[in-house]
Amino acid sequence: MSALLQIFRLDTSDADLTRAQFQSFCGHIPLLYAILVCNTLAIVFYSFEPSQILQTLIAPIAICTVALVRARWWSRQSETRHLSDAQITAHLKRTCSAAIVMTITYNAWVIWVFQDADVVSRSNLTFFLALSQVSTVFCLMTLRAAAMLVALISTVSFALYFAWVDDWQLLPQALVLACVCAGMVMVTLSFNRSFSELVKSREALRLRQLETERLSDENRRIAFSDPLTGLPNRREFLARLDAIEADEHHCLSTLAVMFIDLDSFKEINDEHGHQAGDELIRTIADRLRQQCPEQGVLARVGGDEFTILLDTSKTQESAQPMAVTLAMRLLEEIALPVTVDSHVMQVGGSIGVTANIDASASPRELLRRADLAMYHAKTQGKGKIAIYSDELDKGRLRRLDVEKQIASGLRHGEFDVAYQPIVDTHSGAIVAAEALLRWPRRSRGELWPSEFISIAEATGQIHSLGLFALERACRELRPLPGLILSVNVTPSQFRHPSFGVSVMEILEKTGFPPERLKLEITESFLVTDPNRAIRVVSALRAKGITFALDDFGTGYTSLDYLHSYGFSHIKIDKSLIMGLEPESMSRMLVSSAVSLASVLGMQIIAEGVETPAQANILRDLGCHAMQGYLFGRPMPLEQLCNRLSSCRARGRSGLRQTSS
Ligand code: C2E
Ligand code: CA
Ligand code: CA
Repeated sequence: MSALLQIFRLDTSDADLTRAQFQSFCGHIPLLYAILVCNTLAIVFYSFEPSQILQTLIAPIAICTVALVRARWWSRQSETRHLSDAQITAHLKRTCSAAIVMTITYNAWVIWVFQDADVVSRSNLTFFLALSQVSTVFCLMTLRAAAMLVALISTVSFALYFAWVDDWQLLPQALVLACVCAGMVMVTLSFNRSFSELVKSREALRLRQLETERLSDENRRIAFSDPLTGLPNRREFLARLDAIEADEHHCLSTLAVMFIDLDSFKEINDEHGHQAGDELIRTIADRLRQQCPEQGVLARVGGDEFTILLDTSKTQESAQPMAVTLAMRLLEEIALPVTVDSHVMQVGGSIGVTANIDASASPRELLRRADLAMYHAKTQGKGKIAIYSDELDKGRLRRLDVEKQIASGLRHGEFDVAYQPIVDTHSGAIVAAEALLRWPRRSRGELWPSEFISIAEATGQIHSLGLFALERACRELRPLPGLILSVNVTPSQFRHPSFGVSVMEILEKTGFPPERLKLEITESFLVTDPNRAIRVVSALRAKGITFALDDFGTGYTSLDYLHSYGFSHIKIDKSLIMGLEPESMSRMLVSSAVSLASVLGMQIIAEGVETPAQANILRDLGCHAMQGYLFGRPMPLEQLCNRLSSCRARGRSGLRQTSS
């Protein structure tokens, strides 16, 4: 019974279905009212009687007016998007009520007219009434409750009245109508089920489509953005550059590209672990994001590399000054300390900038130029900004050339080692010699270490080149007992995992005593990776090798701090010695360095000593050893041996010999 009642009840629990019913309705209802108006007019045509003006004219006009007003309202409801679910439900409820009222009214009117009609009109009346009922149920089919109520009310009233009236004469019509009605009910129920299934499957399809779209958006986001920082990644950045290139109307002269690379990030990663490194990158990325102007696209294109594309086409600003000002601000932001897990870390940045003032370069070429400028900034020392120029490209080609030549030079024995004497300040005796690489047999003319060492350092060739120098020097100086051999080691040589082992192998192979070997390292390595530096230094010191800190005075580290590494010697850089005059700043600096070093048990070697005046000051300050053109330029082994033997034979100091 309750299932039976259920089919007469308006079910609005499924909002999508209700909305779909409403929408389908908007098309059907005006049609329904149009049929109703036609039928009404047909009934008026057959039954009009001037004496019965109320039921044969005024009542049908009222019915038609209401029908037309409703039809007009419905025809305006085709757009349902602005209606809320509640509004739609209310409209449908009203429709059900209206259907009941209209059906009762219409049937009552027809019966009213029927009573006074002649036989012909009567049969017409029943025909049009049945027609109206059938068409109403069909038009209301999508709204089951309304269709069922109309079917029930009209069939029951029709069957009851017409079966009884006129001595059962119309009974067959009543029965036929009841059968038609039962058929319609069946069709309506089945149509209704199909309709709701259709709506549900359409909704499921729509949801699946939304999900597919969401997944493909997500895929795109993952493919084109950096998961760590959420910034566009390299692929996305290149895609943006390509999009600009593909746009014929885009003015290329308003573009600038910046390439930002963090300094010493690798060391932080190695020392504090990847998680800390990731946190650092995230923090820096946030700072860059905050500084990046509206006209800029910031991307993370590599581990510690970021790029910015500035496009000033909309603001008509000049791209280059804007990029340079931004670069300066970014360097400041990058250098601010970052705290991760209560560790305070600090990195710097190097930035390459290029603007396309003459619109000569494609966007991708701008990226290459910015990268090259950044590389140049790095070679100028860290924390620098470099602006691209054609010269940089020439320098780069030369570097690539030299890189190839170093490899073939090593294979073909083009390198030599020269030795520069280091003398004792007081006795003037040669106590040590610094091994310095020379490239005399290079096919395109000799190149100085100041040029090729930095290239070899950047390409990693310094490892084999450095080991070559060490092995050659150990082999050559082994027969000179008592002479200390100083060999330079660059930060990347030192960082190489097998460095310590390689050094020990060479000492073993050449039979050179470890106590006579001194390795000269620069401060930069200690600063970037202090823990690793302490480990390597102490392992080699345990074997008897000593260490000198090279180029002291060019960095910022205090002597006190350096002492913890176990250096036996500090080499004061030639830039300080150059300005050494009686009342100079350099003199004060050297003086305090000597006093502090002595307290800490370290010895001071001054390099780049060129004049007797400098030598005298250094002697007065208590400097322990000196090296420089005054005592001899870097020289071949043979010459060093001659110098040593003549010094020893005469028992006189190298100093007196040179200055005489
Ligand atoms: P450095 O370690 O500072 O070496 C001293 C440099 O100063 C040498 O230049 C030397 O010739 C120069 N010099 C010596 N006395 C004087 C002087 O009185 N006045 C002036 N103006 N200069 C003087 P060089 O041989 O051109 O070497 C340059 C740099 O190349 C070295 O600087 C060192 O860092 C690097 N280097 C040279 N040979 C090797 C090597 O075998 N391995 C490594 N890793 N680096 C090397
Ligand atoms: Ca040196
Ligand atoms: Ca030096």
